[in-house]
Amino acid sequence: MNIEKTVKSIDRYRRMCLNLQASENMILPEALSLLSSDLSGRYWHEDESGTNSYGGIDSFRDILREGERCATRLFGAEFAEIRPIGGHIAAAAVLRAITRPGDTIMHIPSRSGGYPGYDQRYLPDLLSLKSIEIPFTDETQDIDMSELEVKVKNARPSVIILGQSAFVKPYDLKSVSGICSENGIRLVYDGSHVMGLIAGKAFQPDTLDYSDVLVGSTHKTMPGPQGGIILTNDAITMEKIRGQLTWTLQDNFHLARVASLALTLQKMISFAEAYARRVVRNSYELGKTLYELSMGIRFSPWFSHSHQIIVDDKWLSEKGLNRVEFSRTLERNNIIVDRDGRIGTSEISRMGYEDMQTVADLMVSAISGKNIREDVISVAEKIYGGT
Ligand SMILES: *Cc1c(COP(=O)(O)O)cnc(C)c1O
Repeated sequence: MNIEKTVKSIDRYRRMCLNLQASENMILPEALSLLSSDLSGRYWHEDESGTNSYGGIDSFRDILREGERCATRLFGAEFAEIRPIGGHIAAAAVLRAITRPGDTIMHIPSRSGGYPGYDQRYLPDLLSLKSIEIPFTDETQDIDMSELEVKVKNARPSVIILGQSAFVKPYDLKSVSGICSENGIRLVYDGSHVMGLIAGKAFQPDTLDYSDVLVGSTHKTMPGPQGGIILTNDAITMEKIRGQLTWTLQDNFHLARVASLALTLQKMISFAEAYARRVVRNSYELGKTLYELSMGIRFSPWFSHSHQIIVDDKWLSEKGLNRVEFSRTLERNNIIVDRDGRIGTSEISRMGYEDMQTVADLMVSAISGKNIREDVISVAEKIYGGT
């Protein structure tokens, strides 16, 4: 097994593909090169007095502070924490900081596109919380506010956590926030999938106007290195969250990754809005075009307000396919989607691509059984040319 050769061949192969995975993106090239810097083997730890316990690395403080500064500016927040090694760890830190064992929390059920990590047996069991479902209408992707009000009165949760992995529509945050303030509930927004769109004000730009904490991943719609980020306007809450990171949920935080994230945040200030608008426009266009070509895409006629569209399971079974076979059929033609029925436009949009008619035509041809691999490769060459 030649590991270096295999990694290089993955590099080459994914540049010959149409990468439409909703959870993924192509990291900015400048940020990518920092991942292999000297920092990748170093430590840094600031104690309460502000002293770094390690030598030879004092200037890292400036990188960390610059990353935090750019994050607060991008998301319009007072405080930012950019060290969590993933969105999941970041969410665990937030939940642990603002709940006590035995508390009840509420989440969007994973069968309606919610994050499985909030299902009882994962983070809630780990943190000794009880997690119950937010009443949610799957067909419209809306929270049922009157039912939520009733459920909240009965279950007395301390936290409501919003956000989904199959995120296609923003919430009526003002109403949820009203229910939360009347009942003394903290509102957390897990924007993992849509952080880049929130930063670019193209999806739920009012997040921090209504929620206590915004938490998420840095590599889905954000084109950064894989990691997590936490934002809030409340100093005390941030203090508690920071207390959950070092020596509780993690120790070293991968310094090269944080430098790479800081650079991504700095660069995003100038392009986030145009990028996010392109992502949202591309998903809607792709959904609409596929639908017009008779592919089953959910939520007609609006399809999506985010970076992804969702394949209709009923249509798949009429075609004698399931989500996995759908994905594998496309993959034989170098079109990469996940095995959960999600199709994402972040990566091609980040590369500046806008021809959704071509993407839709290629997908439909592949699903109809044609071999269009060579055509996909020439489109991928246009998208990734020179990278
Ligand atoms: C992906 C995801 C996570 C986990 O994020 P990682 O960065 O992979 O740890 C958490 N919440 C939601 C809603 C997600 O989609």
